[in-house]
Amino acid sequence: MSENVYQFIDVQRVDPRKKPISSRKKSFVEIYEPFSEKQVNSQADRCLDCGNPYCEWKCPVHNYIPQWLKLIRTGRILEAAELSHRTNSLPEVCGRVCPQDRLCEGSCTLDEEFGAVTIGNIEKYITDTAFKMGWKPDMSYVVWTEKKVAIIGAGPAGLGCADILVRNGVKPVVFDRHPEIGGLLTFGIPSFKLEKQVMQKRREIFTEMGVEFKLNTEVGVDITMDEILAEYDAVFLGVGTYQSMRAGLENEDAPGVHDALPFLIGNTNRVMGYDESNQEYLDMADQKVVVLGGGDTAMDCIRTSIRQGAEKVICAYRRDEENMPGSRREVKNAKEEGVEFTFNVQPTGIVLNDNGHVAGVQMVKTQMGEPDEKGRSRAEVVPGSEHVIEADQVIMAFGFKPHKMDWLEKYDVEINHWGGINAPEQGEFTHQTTNPKIFAGGDIVRGSDLVVTAIFEGRNAAEGIMDYLKV
Ligand code: FAD
Ligand code: SF4
Repeated sequence: MSENVYQFIDVQRVDPRKKPISSRKKSFVEIYEPFSEKQVNSQADRCLDCGNPYCEWKCPVHNYIPQWLKLIRTGRILEAAELSHRTNSLPEVCGRVCPQDRLCEGSCTLDEEFGAVTIGNIEKYITDTAFKMGWKPDMSYVVWTEKKVAIIGAGPAGLGCADILVRNGVKPVVFDRHPEIGGLLTFGIPSFKLEKQVMQKRREIFTEMGVEFKLNTEVGVDITMDEILAEYDAVFLGVGTYQSMRAGLENEDAPGVHDALPFLIGNTNRVMGYDESNQEYLDMADQKVVVLGGGDTAMDCIRTSIRQGAEKVICAYRRDEENMPGSRREVKNAKEEGVEFTFNVQPTGIVLNDNGHVAGVQMVKTQMGEPDEKGRSRAEVVPGSEHVIEADQVIMAFGFKPHKMDWLEKYDVEINHWGGINAPEQGEFTHQTTNPKIFAGGDIVRGSDLVVTAIFEGRNAAEGIMDYLKV
């Protein structure tokens, strides 16, 4: 580190430059320019190397943040990449999509007064640069066992699990119904936050490490659980949650009302040139679009609509800005790109025109009340505040719950009251389900959450699987 521990006073926090708004609003490429080596060095040098690093504790995978900041400061990129991969299977992805303002950066000692160290962008820089330099995870020490594990789902949970297994000589075979790995990283999160080449590169890296991918293969359709259980020593379920939540509004099935994920998938299919037959492209060009919701999914829908050329995009959320679940960074980006935010409004119905197509959303105003059981202020309806927000298209982004999995029904895997899979961290073997041979993790166990928590659970489940297999 620099001799001067008060570097953070002289050197301000800097975020990488963003592309100009005019081009950002039309393109589906990442909006941030990469950091230069000089920027990375000076930003990493702002770290105080706290004795008790809050950033590391707050990070769900407990990344060795101060240590890799120190390595990068002295130009030791490959060592930084090694260290970063010791706790995280997809650091270049987390650097791009984690809500750092709520996690590591939000708990950095410098955050309040001087501006947090720019951890996320440095995390992304380390792996991107190491890959460019030809770095690959070192597998020379691996002693292969005879064991084979089937992983259902190539999302962050499945990939985290595969990473730990393969590094310990257990062969992972990953099944996914999609043509590319990544789960929601590829078919959910848009490419202006995470370019799809990032996952293609990861697939190459994992494949070379010894992970086998069976893509375009849906379990329950193209292969049965009976076949999988007969062939593999254990199974990991990282299948995500895919049932869109609805609000139960009058007319919510009318033409012009869409669920968020099909809209985003249709867009990704078009941008990537994937087969569009499984999900048609929904075009928001010249439309007045209202997106209902305030999480990451809503942010992605509003910014995708802007890029498709919508005439006007409104994000309508029932609490105030302070209580929005979406990342502050993404709200700021959306505002810069021209999205209007309407806070403290709750939809009560969909208004139709004479042709039965959406014409608006019936709303009531809300005000913030007492905190709920999770400590977030409740949105209370203001009497007599009914009004309509005009819309040609409405996108519902209220979150997801587990989808039905008929193919899993006869295998004694306990499903809980909200439809998720019971696979506790504290069981005999971490993340084992009620069928001893089957483990699970990610959104299907904890409910819709974050990329980094899914990675963490997948990695932990791999440890549980290896204990169970006695390897
Ligand atoms: P998924 O990523 O959903 O992966 C599950 C995989 O299983 C899928 O590829 C699916 O095809 C496959 N699968 C399911 N059933 C079968 C079957 N029968 N056969 C074969 N394959 C099957 N989190 C963040 O941290 N930052 C963000 O910015 C962010 N933005 C988001 C934006 C959107 C639009 C959405 C929807 C979520 C976002 N999230 C974000 C949340 C994050 O993406 C998820 O929490 C995370 O991807 C969950 O990982 P997972 O591996 O459990 O499931
Ligand atoms: Fe921060 Fe996410 Fe990286 Fe952890 S994984 S250090 S939370 S960006």
